[in-house]
Amino acid sequence: MSVGVRQPRPLKPMTNGNKDKLLQVEDLRVYYGAARALDGVSFHVAKGEVVAIIGSNGAGKSTTLKTVSGVAELLKTVSGSITFAGERIEKKSSHHVARMGMAHVPEGRRVFAGSSVEDNLLLGAYRRRHDRGAVSADLERVYGRFPVLRERRSKPAGYLSGGEQQMLAIGRGLMASPRFLLLDEPSLGLAPLLVSEVFDIIAELAAEGTTILLVEQLAHQALRVADRAYVLEAGTISGGGDAGSVAADPHVREAYLGA
Ligand code: ATP
Repeated sequence: MSVGVRQPRPLKPMTNGNKDKLLQVEDLRVYYGAARALDGVSFHVAKGEVVAIIGSNGAGKSTTLKTVSGVAELLKTVSGSITFAGERIEKKSSHHVARMGMAHVPEGRRVFAGSSVEDNLLLGAYRRRHDRGAVSADLERVYGRFPVLRERRSKPAGYLSGGEQQMLAIGRGLMASPRFLLLDEPSLGLAPLLVSEVFDIIAELAAEGTTILLVEQLAHQALRVADRAYVLEAGTISGGGDAGSVAADPHVREAYLGA
């Protein structure tokens, strides 16, 4: 299928980015030892929006997501503020943030290759494991969305193809029943056709109203599914706006869209 930025996206009510902010990041500065990875990064995500952060290798995209979800390595130091659902979280643990309803699907999928597909999914619901009814309903929903995972539910996850493993990683994130999904480079290591499939799924989740923050090197795919986007370059936000205007920006076209 065509993956041009101008192709129609699934119908989805546009949100006003200034209202009902679910995530607000202000002046984030992150260092790995003495090396600065993020330098005054500010952005927000409103409830129901899909926001993409595009940027090249090493721009700081993964660091942004890891800092927001609290899983960043101990090496780094952070200043600035991160407010999620009205609560300041920049000093909270990843467990606390996850309990608040944020699910982080990390770069590189990180499935447990020796465990079954179903066990990998159930791990996503670990915090709610005692609520068996809700967990099996969510499992059914994930299998409904990803029929290939149902077919392979008892196979070791390592047997799945790269695209299927990415679906498993997203499915595991959804098993946490999140109100906010963070997706780190879902295209990584996938063949072009599988990339389109994974982004179609992201577009479907978006159309259902899932709030998503997505970081991605493949700008054309990210802009296809996003309502708004920011451009991250060398640890600073250099531009942003609604996805259409970012896609039309001459610098973005030249640097990220191969125009
Ligand atoms: P990629 O797509 O390659 O993951 P990215 O935009 O996600 O790139 P980050 O992984 O956030 O970029 O890296 C931002 C900067 O921080 C880079 O210069 C990187 O080398 C550096 N960096 C990332 N992780 C560490 C670490 N654990 N220790 C030291 N420096 C790091």
